[in-house]
Formats: sequence, C-alpha cells, structure tokens
Amino acid sequence: GDEDMDFVASPLPSISTSHSQNRWGDTTSYAAKKKLQSWFQLPNGNWELGKLLSTSGTESVISLPEGKVLKVKSESLVPANPDILDGVDDLMQLSYLNEPSVLYNLQYRYKQNMIYTKAGPVLVAINPFKKVPLYGNDYIEAYKNKSLESPHVYAITDTAIREMRRDEVNQSIIISGESGAGKTETAKIAMQYLAALGGGSGIEYEILKTNPILEAFGNAKTSRNDNSSRFGKLIEIHFSETGKISGAKIQTFLLEKSRVVQCAEGERSYHIFYQLCAGAPLALREKLDLRTANDYKYLRQSSCHSITGVDDAEQFHVVVEALDTVHVSKEDQESVFAMLAAVLWLGNVSFTVIDNENHVEPVADEDLINVAKLIGCNIEELKLALSTRKMRVGNDNIVQKLTLPQAIDTRDALAKSIYACLFDWLVEQINKSLAVGKRRTGRSISILDIYGFESFDRNSFEQFCINYANERLQQHFNRHLFKLEQEEYIQDGIDWAKIDFEDNQDCLNLFEKKPLGLLSLLDEESTFPNGTDLTFANKLKQHLNSNSCFRGERDKAFTVSHYAGEVMYDTTGFLEKNRDLLHLDSIQLLSSSSCHLPQIFASNMLTQSNKPVVGPLHKAGGADSQKLSVATKFKGQLFQLMQRLENTTPHFIRCIKPNNFQSPGLYEQGLLLQQLRCCGVLEVVRISRSGFPTRMSHQKFARRYGFLLLESVASQDPLSVSVAILHQFNILPEMYQVGYTKLFFRTGQIGVLEDTRNRTL
Ligand code: ADP
Ligand code: MG
Repeated sequence: GDEDMDFVASPLPSISTSHSQNRWGDTTSYAAKKKLQSWFQLPNGNWELGKLLSTSGTESVISLPEGKVLKVKSESLVPANPDILDGVDDLMQLSYLNEPSVLYNLQYRYKQNMIYTKAGPVLVAINPFKKVPLYGNDYIEAYKNKSLESPHVYAITDTAIREMRRDEVNQSIIISGESGAGKTETAKIAMQYLAALGGGSGIEYEILKTNPILEAFGNAKTSRNDNSSRFGKLIEIHFSETGKISGAKIQTFLLEKSRVVQCAEGERSYHIFYQLCAGAPLALREKLDLRTANDYKYLRQSSCHSITGVDDAEQFHVVVEALDTVHVSKEDQESVFAMLAAVLWLGNVSFTVIDNENHVEPVADEDLINVAKLIGCNIEELKLALSTRKMRVGNDNIVQKLTLPQAIDTRDALAKSIYACLFDWLVEQINKSLAVGKRRTGRSISILDIYGFESFDRNSFEQFCINYANERLQQHFNRHLFKLEQEEYIQDGIDWAKIDFEDNQDCLNLFEKKPLGLLSLLDEESTFPNGTDLTFANKLKQHLNSNSCFRGERDKAFTVSHYAGEVMYDTTGFLEKNRDLLHLDSIQLLSSSSCHLPQIFASNMLTQSNKPVVGPLHKAGGADSQKLSVATKFKGQLFQLMQRLENTTPHFIRCIKPNNFQSPGLYEQGLLLQQLRCCGVLEVVRISRSGFPTRMSHQKFARRYGFLLLESVASQDPLSVSVAILHQFNILPEMYQVGYTKLFFRTGQIGVLEDTRNRTL
C-alpha cells in the first residue's frame, strides 16, 4: 500500500553520471527504508529479490525467498520496483532503473512470450527460440489500426511508415545484436509488415522472395546459429507517392568467402551446396555430375551435413521458386548451379609432385575434367592456371611453377572467387528485377541487418572488420540518441543537466587515422612484397602503443578496446585476407571461359579480385581499375552506408539472445546483462526518461493543432498559438518545455492532441 506509493512517487530518480559499479542505480539512501523489496546479488552473479527486514548502520538484514535470512552490507542492496510495475512495456516506466530491475522486467515479460520491450526509443527483442503467437495478418491488422500498441517489430515499422509519410524523410530500421540474437528473423518480420501495408503492385512478393535466395547463398550453420548470415545486408524499400511499394535495392557487405573452402567441425558451408546436392532433379544431377555432399572435400571437412528440422531438398525447391519469382531465367539458374558444382569439384582436385623441386601439377582425373567442363574451359589451360603463375619481371614474362601449398592456395582462391562473383551476380540480378521505376519521387525505408560485435577465443581478420563496422554503427547510435538529443536541448535553450555518454571516437580514430591507424598500416604492409603478419604486428606495436585503445600482445597479436569490450586479434592471415589475391592466370582463365554466365566473370571478376602484387603495385596490369584491399573496400562501403543512414530517421532494434544453446525458456542473466551493456540500452533509457523525447517546431505545432483552438488568439504568431493550444488542453507545465524554435514534450504527451485531431479531421 503506502510503501508502494513511496516508490511511484519519485518518477524521476536522481541520475548518476559516474560509471561506477552500479551505474544505473539510484544513490538515495534507499536501504534506510524498511520492509522494502530489494535486490541481492548471489555469489553466482544472479540477482535475487529479498525483503528488507532491518537496517542498522551500514548493515542490513534481508530475507530471501527460501526463508534464508542474511546480514549484508547495506550498500550492496539495490532497490526493487513495486509489484505494480512488474512487466511494464517500456523500461522508462520503471521507478528504479538499475540492472537487476531491468533484467527482472525483461524476464517477467519473456516468460509470458512478450519478447519485445521498449527501452525508450529503442526496441529490445529477446529471441524466443520457439514459435510465439505474435505474428500474422491478425496482428498486422491490429497494429495497423492501433488496436494493439504493445512493443513489437510491427509497431516500430508502423512508426517508420508514418514518419516517412508525415515528415517526408527517408527512414531506416537498424537491427543489431550478436550472432543468433534474431536480427535476420526480425528483419523479415519488418519486411512482412511493410509488404502488408505497402503491397498492391505485386513487387512485395518479389521482395519477400529475396530472403530464401540470399539465405541459401549467404547463410550457413555455425556453432552459434543454424542459419547464420555470413554477410551484412541493407535493403532499401521504395514507396510511391501513394504509399505503395514501388521497388527495392539490396546492398550486401563482406561475404565470408573462406567458408567455401574451409569450415569448422560441426558447422557447414553455405546452405545452397547441400540443397543442390540433396534437391537437384535427376536431369540436373546428371548434367552436373552431382554427387552427395559427402563426396565433396569442401563439404566433407565437417561431419555435419544436415540441420535438425531442415529439409535441404525441399529448401532447394523453395530457392528455385524464389529465383523464378525474381526473374532469373531457367538458363541462368542452370548456369548458377553449374558454377556451384564447379566449386565443389574444384575442391576435389588433387595434385602430384612432378619434379625434385616439389613442383606439382593437378591430377587429370574426373574431378579436373568436371571442373573444366562446368566452367567451360580447356583442360590444359585449367591445369596451367592451377600449377603455374605468370609474372612480369622487368620486361620479361616468366612462368613460375607452384609447390603444393601454393597450388592449393591458388585452387582455393579460384573457388572462393567464383562463389563470391556468383553471389554478387545474384544480388545484381535481384536488384534488376526489383529496380525502382523511373518515377523516383517517393520515399524509402531501409532495413539494416548486419552482424553484431564478435569476440571469440581467437579473433581474426573477419572479426576485425565486423567489429570495426559495429564501432561505426555504435557511433551512429550514440550520435542520434545522445549527442543530437543533448545538442538539440541546449541549442533550443532548454534546461538540461548534461549527461555523460560513452563516445567511441578514440577507437574509430585508431582504425581510421592516416597514415598511422590500423587500416592504413594494414594496407601499407599488404603492398610490401616482404610484408608478413609478423612485420605487420610489429609495426602496429611500434606506432600505436601510445594509443589508449590499443595494446600490443605477445606473438603476433594485439588488443583493441572496443565500446563493447576488449578484443584480442591474432594477425595470422591478415595480410593474405586483406590482399585477397587472385592471380592473373585464373582471371584470364575465367574471362575466356565459355561458361553460360560470362557476365559473372567479365564484370565482377575484375572488380572483385586483385592483381598479383609484385612490389608496391597499385595499378592492375592493363586495366585501369585501382586495386583495393579488402579492408579499404569495406571501409568505403561502410562510409557510404553511414552516409545513407545519416540522411534517414533511424529506428533501432536491439536483438538479444537469452542463452547460447538456441534453447527456448532458458534465461541467463549474465549473458543478457553483458548484451544490454554492450549496446547502451540502459543509458538510452536513462536519458530518454529524463528528457523530452517528442518535439515539434512552433510553426508545425501551430499548423497541426491550431484549428482545434476554441477561442481565437490575439496574436497569430506560431509561439502564441502554440501556447494557447497547450493551455486549452491543460498540458501540465512539467510535461513540456518551450524552446527558442521548438516545443519539447515528455513521452506520451502529444497523444491527447493527436487523438483529438484525428477525431476532428
Ligand atoms: P541472427 O541473424 O541475429 O544471427 P537469426 O535471426 O538467424 O539470428 O535467429 C536465429 C534463430 O533464432 C532463428 O533461426 C530462429 O530459430 C530463432 N528466432 C529468432 N527470432 C525469432 C522469433 N521472433 N520467433 C521465433 N524464433 C526466432
Ligand atoms: Mg542473421
């Protein structure tokens, strides 16, 4: 009764700006109050709810649920919220905003299949790892006509649509989270909602069908996720003036090529290989000489060939149907499958030693013959491409014979390159099919599904790039939710106690600074013929050790302090992956091949691949294209992406996984907390709650609601009109602030006005 009220009476607890251990806790002398519920941290790190029995001096006595009574330090207790706040759908509503309270609230909801919770402007989605009854037409309809307003991907997508129309500004839905947290599923749920609301032209079906295609070619089973995306994706969905979907454009980022030629035990290569082997109809099987997955070395490296609950053969037909839908012709489809088969056969190509210098040449068996047949090249040419390297030294062309490791590298590079070209080509075809009509007058909503921050026992070049991307995205997030927020208040003369937030500019500088940043130094070392991973690591230590975000480690390793925590990178393979060489011989081989998809190789091969590096060579021989390292190309893509996002109103969804076992119902507090901390969700709530999230210019406000005024106003200037509206609607003074140019409202205040407006219109 009374005690509950005690809690609710302080809706805006003091905000601690320090980042002490209990960074979201309240500093009030809470423990002094008696018989209150309180969080107590168990030795295993989990929090338990106890009743405060007494407090004397610095010690308190609490009783825990099983009847245990403990004497503890008062300062170790964290206040709990009253029962009436159990399961609130926005963390902003919590009276006490501390870690255990947030964890408890999320868990309370999660247990009841309420996997979505707002954290101020951010939607938090906790992966249910099971079917939850929250989707489908009835739900879409309910969110559309606002009979349902609980947090949901549908709700945030609806907001994006409405803001696109209202403000005439492009929107973006930025989904982040760790691998397996539910990003890709969430993106699909958002797309479904967009398709349902903006459908009509038929293009929405095509857009939805891009998902099975890209997942087949770009997703694989990993130890974390049976359907892990191995590329980043931005899909920009365009709307016409009338609000109908008019087209879409997909951009992909950094496909993990290495998975084509190697994958760890228990994981798989890309789904499409298994689907093809299991699902190809007889005629196709014969034409491509297809065998089972187990007959191909690239797939055989891991004993895992199937996924529980997934029928690869059936999936193959889904993919073929989807390819039909996006207008990839049957002929092109067959060529795509031929290229996939070529990759598989290429992995089986073996070599024999031909001289006493350990030079090798490929064995001319069925494997090699099949590759030549499928690619459409001469067997002798293929043999040469796999066993020799042409080089230009001075004015002479020399031919170097390859040793076994070199030949295997060359073979694998060819396989990876074919696959990556195929992937890019597919995306290109899809984009052609979805191309936005000539009347590009409408607006767009972009959905970004990109791998979250990764930190493993061993972190390589891939994690390096991924984490760099996340560092950039985090800055975007910070900027929008923190910086812009504060700057806007200050600019508009609003009283605003400044709040610290974590700025990751230092870490970004560590990556991007020229010439002494991680990326520049990597590129520099990659162009030196004698550069190795070791010389690279040493160079980093030499130049960057004074940087507070960098630490040199033993051997060839280094550590970066990311916003989400420290990650140690092992430089082994960095230079090779960054150079991503495909030798001229292979390029020539492929561009001269008579394969049915000449465009794949003609256009993509040259942009995809790099010419051999002999000395600091930057110009591709003959062609004019600038040679770009993988990291530099990625950085370019990332900058372009950020620029595009900057011009949109962002909506953030943070996906969280409750356990590492893809298991429903298991809620590990520690794992959740770590993810909540990583993505800054709690700080956002802290700021949003104390701030004024809704804002509108005087002009706009006067224009939008002025007609609701019952009495005329003496002065017609927007500010006077606005103030008159506020008075007429009895908006409480503490619920808004009048800035120089804008009005600022606390959450929910504008609702009354909007309702009245809608009823009146
Ligand atoms: P990410 O893209 O973040 O790596 P995914 O979106 O692939 O993760 O999700 C991993 C798995 O979690 C999915 O294959 C699915 O089984 C489950 N999952 C994720 N979101 C949902 C959801 N909303 N409902 C049911 N299952 C989900
Ligand atoms: Mg994914």
